[in-house]
Amino acid sequence: MNVYRLPALSDNYIFVMYDPNQGVAAVVDPAEARPVIQCLDELGASLTAIFNTHHHADHVGGNRQLLRKFPEAEVYGGEGDRDRIPGQTVFLKEGNTVHFAGRPGHVFFVPGHTRAHIAYHFPSVDGQEPGELFCGDTMFAGGCGRLFEGTPAQMVSSLSKLRQLPDETRIWCAHEYTLKNLQFAITVDSDNEVLQQRLEEVKQARQHDEATVPSLLGLEKQTNPFLRWDERSLQAAAKTNDPIRTFAKIRGMKDMF
Ligand code: ZN
Ligand code: FE
Repeated sequence: MNVYRLPALSDNYIFVMYDPNQGVAAVVDPAEARPVIQCLDELGASLTAIFNTHHHADHVGGNRQLLRKFPEAEVYGGEGDRDRIPGQTVFLKEGNTVHFAGRPGHVFFVPGHTRAHIAYHFPSVDGQEPGELFCGDTMFAGGCGRLFEGTPAQMVSSLSKLRQLPDETRIWCAHEYTLKNLQFAITVDSDNEVLQQRLEEVKQARQHDEATVPSLLGLEKQTNPFLRWDERSLQAAAKTNDPIRTFAKIRGMKDMF
């Protein structure tokens, strides 16, 4: 299975999963249809599935147009997004399994950014194919989504589920926010040498207009302040030793950054 990263709108990424053996493709969070159709044309692939993580327009905006061209495609989303995801046909909850190209994808219920947000984890196969996590606006490289419809406690619970995946998991987050995220992160975790080095690398990459997605979970665990609520450095920055208060305080500081 190949994963293609398509830039869309101002800073979104759309992901196309492609199985060259069967000539079929699936798309994750099509913000718009045009780049997806262009990618499918180039691959000569047909679309069998749309996997949506949540209902926001910059994640589902291409659903209708893609369905006009591929009316047989299933549209997956969280059960709580019933009526909010255009064309949704499959209503998922925690523990459900989806399939693409013979690979199982496990569904996590990850409320916080929105109340019905889900993530899809396709585990590594025989150590050959890397594990893939499509997490929408829940986790970003160096950051996490804003809490529009959920509480800090919910988001900590959601991110805890994702944090338990293998370190080698590739993190396909839906926006190119990494530089801004790390510029904030360094203000609350300034002594973190791995973070210092990552910030320099990301500055270089962005100067050359290179994408910083996918990330790796192991790196996120070392550098993403929104996975580090139980680290003393972050708790000190938040002036509390309560993990959820630490997360809430850091999230609030990022909102103002
Ligand atoms: Zn969103
Ligand atoms: Fe988004």
